[in-house]
Amino acid sequence: MSRPRGHSHPALKRQEGLSNLTDRSVEAVRQLLARGDLDKFTHAASRVGFCQRPIRLHGQSATIDARTGEVSSTFSSDEAPLGVLLTRCGNRRESVCTSCSRVYARDTFEMIRCGLEGGKGVPERVAENPLAFVTVTAPSFGPVHSTRGGRLCHPRGQETCRHGRSMSCTTRHEKDDAVVGSPICSECYDYRGHVVWQYHAPELWRRAIQDVSRQLAALLGVPSSRVSKIVSRQYGRTAEMQARGAVHFHALFRLDGPSSEGLGAACGVGVDVMVEAIEAAFARAQVVAPPTFDGDRSRVLRCGEQIDIRVVREGTRTDDPDAPITGEQVAAYLAKYSTKDTSLAVPDGAHVHRIKETCAQVHEEAMLRAEQRRAGEDPAVPLDAEGRDHYALIGKWTKELGYRGHYSSKSRCYSVTYRSLRRRRARFQRVMQDETERAKRAGKPVDLEAVEKTLRVEAEDSETTLVVGMWEFVGAGWSNEGEVEIATAAAARAREYAQLKASGLQ
Ligand SMILES: [Zn+2]
Ligand SMILES: [Zn+2]
Ligand SMILES: [Zn+2]
Repeated sequence: MSRPRGHSHPALKRQEGLSNLTDRSVEAVRQLLARGDLDKFTHAASRVGFCQRPIRLHGQSATIDARTGEVSSTFSSDEAPLGVLLTRCGNRRESVCTSCSRVYARDTFEMIRCGLEGGKGVPERVAENPLAFVTVTAPSFGPVHSTRGGRLCHPRGQETCRHGRSMSCTTRHEKDDAVVGSPICSECYDYRGHVVWQYHAPELWRRAIQDVSRQLAALLGVPSSRVSKIVSRQYGRTAEMQARGAVHFHALFRLDGPSSEGLGAACGVGVDVMVEAIEAAFARAQVVAPPTFDGDRSRVLRCGEQIDIRVVREGTRTDDPDAPITGEQVAAYLAKYSTKDTSLAVPDGAHVHRIKETCAQVHEEAMLRAEQRRAGEDPAVPLDAEGRDHYALIGKWTKELGYRGHYSSKSRCYSVTYRSLRRRRARFQRVMQDETERAKRAGKPVDLEAVEKTLRVEAEDSETTLVVGMWEFVGAGWSNEGEVEIATAAAARAREYAQLKASGLQ
């Protein structure tokens, strides 16, 4: 809700070269100037990459040599620019924080890419192993409007449904047509089935994944207990919301040799075996979902019928430019989806509203049963192994349309972890910043060799240093909307600048 531009403020223009300031951000700048905090604010904001909702912490930490117990340095939030230590919010959602969501997308890209070709501690030999790109979709809950790659949407002649509505749609929908993804007849559409499937989708994925190993054993003619001595299947996957509000999974599967030989061990088995095992496992996987209310039925949940498997690599390195799909493309594709906000990825029309309503309703019914149980009644919907109502938590996931899984995940030995990527980046930024400040003082260019050397020494030292901290959560976010706007605008500027630099124009 940005108001039209007021007047640009010269001090801020000098600070960040910003234009198009709203009255709100001009007011925020005025306040910062009055307190003498503008420089500190810019400094603090740039240190957290202009995060829109930074976490504010109070306290101190000490770096200790684990061998001697000597304290080599201390840090207190009092020394930080605004008297608080700021850390990034780290939110993956673009709608919450543009800056952090980009970092998350980059990390997802790196995580997937390192699993493809090695790097950042992942051995390069992973690039020799078979690789396939797999897309698993949800089953149908009723016909929906769709682009069908430019063909007619749903040509059904005179056919009508039991509500007397025409089942036919002969439009060629454009991709951004708001109607795409919504049901041809919303009364026919199985909303409850949709929500129940989505709620159990993570478990369905987990079972299918486990079964891939069993299928591999069967194909290789060895007992399941011995298959890990020959091959291990690794994957990195992301979840994406389709226009119809159903989640689907994209995953890269890599077939490694025995896991005892370490990450990415050479594998003597071809990609065909892996593809067959994946196909069989996802076709068989099922979860029996208990009824959602007294009188409802159990549902046998399965994956959609079309599971798309594309071979990325046969198992030997190919650099064929005409190859249908490359690892790099796949990594970029997967990273793109990891930051999408469910509620924004799908047009927020009547269809999505109805899905959310159904989630809320299933949740309400579970709450009602909880009351009945307290009153000594025994509702027909059974409890789960831990004695909880199966649907007690669905209300928490309404905004995610019932999906309670992660948006990106990986098997243990697929690639680097997000945590190690974050640690690596934090270390690099700190060293780079120190070196930049030192260079500025000395009036010299940044010495990249010195940066590299420090990083190397620190990596060797990291096993013998301990960082002990006592931190207290003060709050989240900037002080006011104006400050959020300044941070957001500065983040956009920083991005433009980085793009300019990357394109060689700077
Ligand atoms: Zn953030
Ligand atoms: Zn249509
Ligand atoms: Zn109907």
